Amino acid sequence: MKALTFRGRENIAYESVADPVIQSAGDVIVEVSSCAICGSDLHPYHEREKGLDHGCVMGHEFTGQVVETGKAVKLLKPGDAVISPFTVSCGQCFYCRKGLTSRCEQSQLFGWRENGVGLNGGQAEYVRVPLADTTLVRRPTTMTDEVAILLGDILSTGYFCSTQAHINPEDIQVVVGCGPVGLMAIWAAYRLGAQRVFAIDQVPQRLAMAEAWGAIPINYLEINPVDVIREATAGRGADQVLEVVGLKSAVRSAFDLLRPGGTLSAVGVCNSTHLPFSPTEAYDQNLTYRIGRCPARGIMEGIMDWAMEDADQLSSVFTHIRPLQEGPSAYHLFDQKADGCMKVLLKPE
Ligand SMILES: [Zn+2]
Ligand SMILES: [Zn+2]
Repeated sequence: MKALTFRGRENIAYESVADPVIQSAGDVIVEVSSCAICGSDLHPYHEREKGLDHGCVMGHEFTGQVVETGKAVKLLKPGDAVISPFTVSCGQCFYCRKGLTSRCEQSQLFGWRENGVGLNGGQAEYVRVPLADTTLVRRPTTMTDEVAILLGDILSTGYFCSTQAHINPEDIQVVVGCGPVGLMAIWAAYRLGAQRVFAIDQVPQRLAMAEAWGAIPINYLEINPVDVIREATAGRGADQVLEVVGLKSAVRSAFDLLRPGGTLSAVGVCNSTHLPFSPTEAYDQNLTYRIGRCPARGIMEGIMDWAMEDADQLSSVFTHIRPLQEGPSAYHLFDQKADGCMKVLLKPE
């Protein structure tokens, strides 16, 4: 089959690799109808952390239909269209039973192979899904590929960020970062009852989209967000700040925007070795800080109806649709945010 593989720093190849095969009785093989490039794919792309194995198939956002099932698979059959979260989960361990599927004892992230261990990703014609009965969710026939992919990661992540923040309708929320996940967080905050969500970024097109989704945009290159938020809150600061970027500077900005007793909810992939605020500062702010990987499998079914109601709005983050074979240039486009690129949908031929 054809797939996008990691070939070293900022080097993605479109090449022929071996077709995935059933390895365990709980596996299925999914034929991918669409897949997407995610902001977190840029971490291995830039080798910001220890590199992936060369040849690892990239990607953890995909949808498609089951074409083959292992002997122990009971709930899925060939022909079923499926939504996949970005990690696999067993459905039975302590964490899965609590809904924290991202910390499943058997969790593995798609598109992450190191030293020969791990899963190939979904930016390919086919992908092997272990623990399939408890990982995949059957997809309603009226659901588009776009919505299915969003549910599997960034929509669930934006929603998780909002739930972690404990949105209170009377409060003031700020979303730091208006990329795809930030937009999903804005959507989720309003769905959870928020009345007034501010959104911070520096890219005019992203701010325009945030505004179209109901947020009050703040371009931090033009105005100090702290001043804007203080003015809106009688000098106190925001009640809840949703941080979706993960960079140290973004977390610090989020911290600076909060009022004492506020909540900082962070879902951006974090690679820092130190917090950008001190224990003393946290104490002095009576800070509630909630951070971590979204348990997409535990969330996505519960927001499916909302996602389908708002399908057109949510799908508008896919500014570019490309054949899978143009994946290498699509990575570059996405990384550079060139041509107004927000998010890329890739289609195997
Ligand atoms: Zn993702
Ligand atoms: Zn589990």
